[in-house]
Amino acid sequence: MPSVLMLYTGGTIGMQPSSQGYVPCAGVGERLVAHLALGDPYRLPVFDVIEMQPLIDSAELMPEAWNRLAAQLENHWPRYDAFVVLQGTDTMEYSASALSFMLGALDKPVIFTGSQIPLGEPRSDALNSVVSALQLAAHPDTPREVSLAFHDRLLRGNRARKVRTQGLDAFDSPNFPWLAELGIGIRFPQPSALLIGKPNFAPIEVDDEAVAVLPLHPGMSLRRAKVLLADKTLKGLVLYTYGVGNPLSFEGELLDCLKAVNERGVALLNVTQCAQGEVVQGAYATGAALNQAGVIASSDITLEAAIAKLTVLIGRGLDGCELRKVLKSAVRGECDSMR
Ligand code: ASP
Repeated sequence: MPSVLMLYTGGTIGMQPSSQGYVPCAGVGERLVAHLALGDPYRLPVFDVIEMQPLIDSAELMPEAWNRLAAQLENHWPRYDAFVVLQGTDTMEYSASALSFMLGALDKPVIFTGSQIPLGEPRSDALNSVVSALQLAAHPDTPREVSLAFHDRLLRGNRARKVRTQGLDAFDSPNFPWLAELGIGIRFPQPSALLIGKPNFAPIEVDDEAVAVLPLHPGMSLRRAKVLLADKTLKGLVLYTYGVGNPLSFEGELLDCLKAVNERGVALLNVTQCAQGEVVQGAYATGAALNQAGVIASSDITLEAAIAKLTVLIGRGLDGCELRKVLKSAVRGECDSMR
């Protein structure tokens, strides 16, 4: 039976109530073992649990936590056959995306999971998540990539989105088929096409000033947008646009600013606000102007994966043409090929 290492980072799955609301709580390993005392009939793989320090609500998570995860994976990679990361759901898809870009090709599965209701509470989905993740970890058909197991599905980590605040089926990947469907049995509709190989565990240089998002909306302030675009610490920007990638132009003024920012060497990514479908930069005149401004059309990447991709690539020291070249391609299946 394969052996699995579980890294517990915090999140609802192991939280307990306090006078301030749910807070992360140590001892999840023992509590899981107690809940899985009937584990033998489940035929689960053997697993160890490491509690990361500090245990956090994932809303507090910053990119240095991705480095700590990568370091733990590196330390334990030779000893285990698969890895499960227990994390809060609020930023789980950011972590799964970031780790997919950091590690690159994998020869073992890394599966993120968590829950909407804490372990031990009535109707908790925690045990289902853990049992599913463990079964998937032990399954020979589980793709060797960073994935996210939740409710009845296994998703590519860098395609996943938290789509429900209340529903137990909290995650989906609107632009990519599920990697596996968990019904009575586990079904893998198609094999993963991603490259298998030895992971790159190198940490990223964390620079919290480097990446920003500019969300466009009716009534937005051009003045405020200009303040952000003039910030010299900026290295990568996600332009969060309408529909197939259309911006407001402010009669050309915003586009002129973007052009100047691009010439300064800032990487500009066009990501759609739509939940489904890709950017077609140039379908409309408003969007076509972005081509001249040097903005990269990001196909159907999610906002979360775009932020993680920029953060990891910049954190690995990429800039200029090299950074743009990598941004124009899918690194770990995070988007369809770009137009
Ligand atoms: N706020 C929690 C967290 O992300 C929510 C959850 O785990 O579901 O840590």
